[in-house]
Amino acid sequence: MNCFLLIIMSVCYFQPYPAPRRFQGFNMLLDENETVVSVRFGELWLRGNNRGQYIKRLISNISARLSSEDVKIIREYDRVLLRLGSNSDINAIQIKLSTIFGISRFELSQATKPELKSIKKLAAKFLSKYDSNSVVRIQSHRSYKGLNFNSMDVISEVAEHAKKRGIAVSNRNFNAEININITKENAFISTGSTKGAGGLPIGSSGKAVLLLSGGIDSPVAAWYAMKRGLMPIYVHMYGYPDASAKELSKITDIASKLNEYSLHYKMYLVPSHYFQLAAIRSGRYETVLMKHFMLLVAQKIAAKEGAQLIYTGDSIGQVASQTPMNLFSEGYLIKYPIIRPLSGFDKEEIIKVARQIGTYELSLLPYMDVCSINSKNPSTAALPEVIKSMSSDYKLKRIAGKSVKHAQILNG
Ligand code: ATP
Ligand code: MG
Repeated sequence: MNCFLLIIMSVCYFQPYPAPRRFQGFNMLLDENETVVSVRFGELWLRGNNRGQYIKRLISNISARLSSEDVKIIREYDRVLLRLGSNSDINAIQIKLSTIFGISRFELSQATKPELKSIKKLAAKFLSKYDSNSVVRIQSHRSYKGLNFNSMDVISEVAEHAKKRGIAVSNRNFNAEININITKENAFISTGSTKGAGGLPIGSSGKAVLLLSGGIDSPVAAWYAMKRGLMPIYVHMYGYPDASAKELSKITDIASKLNEYSLHYKMYLVPSHYFQLAAIRSGRYETVLMKHFMLLVAQKIAAKEGAQLIYTGDSIGQVASQTPMNLFSEGYLIKYPIIRPLSGFDKEEIIKVARQIGTYELSLLPYMDVCSINSKNPSTAALPEVIKSMSSDYKLKRIAGKSVKHAQILNG
């Protein structure tokens, strides 16, 4: 093998991940006193050998989410650094960072050389903002241990300076913080951090099919799926004459809101009329049968899209279709795992999350959901055998396939 080929191969092999557009490099020396945003991974550190893949995904998600912001991305040991440009809008950047799954905390910090003298000088600048009413907690952490001083040395030097200025230092009842993080190339000082969205980077767990209604619950369930790194494929079943009905904009508006977290989505708008024609005589079983049908549709789409899980916004006992027996029966013939992240939630708890993620107001807008159109007195205990035989009599599996064929597919 010639030398040129070997060099090319080794460059490809050792390139840990393809660089997104905004990615500048690894472990770089920053400018003296440069302000950066430090982003921490949290749970990703538990991911053993796959950690590199998760971080690669996170960096690419950060790059996509901050695509309109003036930042450059650097990977530095246990964090990602965002270098700010002259047009950076720090508020907008922080709001966007709080929607990116896989980030445990982030903080605005200033950089200096990883030397005791430089750290002390920059810390003194931070301390100059405090007065004798301040009680400061000083914390230090070394991500790189090959330095000739340790965290205790840093804390005692900075604490000594604080005390000289009449500022109390304590780990209890403090009203200010100085956090010092040291890597091989840089030391970072910050005055506190913001909690991130947690979870795993979107896309790192593959895809999930999410049954999305116009209600409050299913967007919250979708958010919990995304939090575990699943890319959403929404399935919405509509009862309007066709997918161009203006009422359906409510559903796409909810998906667009959730896109702040997911970055991308795919949506199947599936007509319900093939089901309604077939199951016209299902009477009190129509509600459960329709949920069963939606799961058949979701299963068909999961197979087509290579998703492994189906999510719903069910909460045990919330409405007739969600009694334990009905949940058992509607999922009886479904091969895919049905995940119900809200199963133990009260409505109030669901509403609290819906408000936090910004879907609540959209969910309140008027909408005629197919589930609310059917039977006024639904069965609360449909036996699985009954649903199974109705499903087979009405040929629901085939009708699910036909409905998916007539679905309108949107990409967001
Ligand atoms: P939500 O539960 O979202 O508030 P809802 O209360 O109107 O809406 P339920 O009757 O509680 O809906 O339905 C339970 C679950 O079934 C929903 O959370 C959703 O996952 C699924 N679902 C209901 N209607 C539809 C629909 N038209 N299209 C797709 N999935 C639906
Ligand atoms: Mg509900």
